[in-house]
Amino acid sequence: MLLMSALLSLIMYIREYKYKILAFSALFFLILIQFKFLISTYEIRNSQYFFAEKELLNRRYRESIVNDYVYPGGKKIIDNILLTEIDTLSVLYNSDKNNFKSYSDSLYKKIIYDLRNGSKGDTFFTSLVMGSLNEEQLLYCITLRDLSVTVDGVNYIALYPQDQNERSDMPINGSLDDFSKENEVSNISVSSPDPKTYRISYGLYVDHVSRRINLIQQMLPIFFFSLVSVAMIIIIYVMIYQNWRKQKRLTMMTTDFLNSVTHEFNTPLASIIVANQSLKNLQIEDEKLQLIHAVIQRQSLRLQRLINQTISVTKLEEESVERSFYDIQDLLRQILYDYNINKTSEVDIRFDDQVRSSAQPILLNEFLFTTLVFNLLENAVKFNANKKKRIDVVLRRLNNELQISISDNGIGISEKARNKVFEQFYRESGELKKSGLGLGLFYVKKIVEFHKWRIKLNSALGKGSEFIIIISRD
Ligand code: ADP
Repeated sequence: MLLMSALLSLIMYIREYKYKILAFSALFFLILIQFKFLISTYEIRNSQYFFAEKELLNRRYRESIVNDYVYPGGKKIIDNILLTEIDTLSVLYNSDKNNFKSYSDSLYKKIIYDLRNGSKGDTFFTSLVMGSLNEEQLLYCITLRDLSVTVDGVNYIALYPQDQNERSDMPINGSLDDFSKENEVSNISVSSPDPKTYRISYGLYVDHVSRRINLIQQMLPIFFFSLVSVAMIIIIYVMIYQNWRKQKRLTMMTTDFLNSVTHEFNTPLASIIVANQSLKNLQIEDEKLQLIHAVIQRQSLRLQRLINQTISVTKLEEESVERSFYDIQDLLRQILYDYNINKTSEVDIRFDDQVRSSAQPILLNEFLFTTLVFNLLENAVKFNANKKKRIDVVLRRLNNELQISISDNGIGISEKARNKVFEQFYRESGELKKSGLGLGLFYVKKIVEFHKWRIKLNSALGKGSEFIIIISRD
């Protein structure tokens, strides 16, 4: 139960913050990839660092110690100590392991001691490097890795390291402390199949004093560009986020404003309408007063309709708006009749019902549909400078769609404005200075979208406009 509620709240959280979560995860992965890219670039450069020079040094080192071990003269030092002791070591190894260990240790230590003292300082290495490269500031180290003796030429007894699994380099000569695969120049193993001989492995490591700093310096441009690209992406993120918040605040402010304004307007308006009706009921025979009364009634009803339209359209997002099935032909006829009765200017409205036979009932909200048609009719009259204003309303069937076309012989809409007329508060400033809020067509579009219909606009400047509502009946 607890798990279920935790899971549920997690799902709610993800739903609420899905865009933020997505944005931050994308950013996180991007930074991770950049970081991985930098690390692998560093690793590649590290493995290739000093590569050609290492090859050359390796060749020279092998050439200069042919037939010798570790450094020139090294073989003689080891031979002197070890060759006479192989029999003793073998006997001890087979009879007394403890004694063998201490004896082999002392021999091994002596070999190391003599090898270290026998090398003539840095001279061998310096002449090796100088003969091959023109490099200064190089550190090196020659190490002993493995020393084993054999009595029969087949089986070997390890003197160092006694545990063969551990690989360890014992420094003989040089001051480089940090040995690794990256700075290994040579790795030589020598053995002989003869009895009473020994097997030896040794290596040479060479590195720059400032290898890391050199590598980091080489990588600085890549590092810088990575940093700049990540910074730029973060800046873009921040800008988009700020913009989104601004937009959201603006939308909320607009909705809040519309909601409170419409609500505040409705109450005094209702009082005006009632007061006006009471005025009529007084049955005053004055003709002028009757005229004023009619004007008040018409205009206040119009205002009330506008306010109600605003309220219902702002509520369109809520799914509580009711819809029922209507006979679209009857409904259209009735709306046009009402409009004709209440119209304020001279206009010729014609209805061409090309469907004739009864069309299938359409699921719609009556108030919203009436608002849609009224808004289109009002615009057709408003944006018309002709003496003989004409509106053609056509109902037709095309394939599986019903189309309501409302066209006028008005001023038309420019191509530039055609894409924008459905936007909130958009008004085209033509020669015809008409009052309005730029909300009529915005509401039309909202209503069309609410019913999941489509709207098309054809227009030619100076000739007129046609709005087509496309109702698909799937
Ligand atoms: P309003 O009517 O308040 O200006 P609308 O959203 O209804 O707002 O219309 C937006 C703009 O579209 C109008 O300002 C007008 O320029 C243009 N327009 C709308 N309908 C027509 C039409 N039938 N003929 C010409 N222009 C129109």
